[in-house]
Amino acid sequence: MDRTSKARGELDRLGRSLRAQLSALITDLTIRVHLRRLSLDEPKLADPREPLRYHYATIYQGNRPATVTAAETASRATSLLRAAGWDVTASQEDDDGILWTVIVAHRDGSDIRILTSEDTPVVSFRGQTAVVALRPPQPVQQPEPVRTPETVTPGYVLCYECEGLGWCPRCAGRGWMFAGSQRKSRCNECHARKVCPICRGQGELSASGLSQYQRGHYPGLE
Ligand SMILES: [Zn+2]
Ligand SMILES: [Zn+2]
Repeated sequence: MDRTSKARGELDRLGRSLRAQLSALITDLTIRVHLRRLSLDEPKLADPREPLRYHYATIYQGNRPATVTAAETASRATSLLRAAGWDVTASQEDDDGILWTVIVAHRDGSDIRILTSEDTPVVSFRGQTAVVALRPPQPVQQPEPVRTPETVTPGYVLCYECEGLGWCPRCAGRGWMFAGSQRKSRCNECHARKVCPICRGQGELSASGLSQYQRGHYPGLE
């Protein structure tokens, strides 16, 4: 198993575990349960920089039964989570005049937050797994040149810009460059076309078609 599929397997395990825990909490604490709304089928991109990092993340809202207070809901959530090995803390948060009890739980790098209030029957759940890099950064590979001094077509010369590479010599045919903190930016030589802008990917130029300026690159040429 390579590193990427091992990381994906680990992330999927965390995702399944988060889904199981949230499903148990939602079923226990709320009425008219719609677990399909959990939308934990695919990992989401958490950080677009290389290496790309993913997590499972979801938000769910339900209502507590009319006979159950928010305090009882918070206490029940805390004991369910602690019994399942989560580290749990509770605090109060005032949001626009609604006083929420906020339960925050951590386990294996995953987080669950549950908000409940005596001012509303709504109980909201937020869950996310640890963030996992799924594709290791690719080493920069130099492509093979399309023309070499041995394979240049008679009557042609190797392109002075890419020396026969054919691919854009600045970005090595990737179309993008790293621009600080591993962010990608469009290659400013080929403008993401990936091929050498002088020979347009041929790696060679017709000797008779060279401009005056281009001939300057070939001092030996008649
Ligand atoms: Zn070229
Ligand atoms: Zn380029």
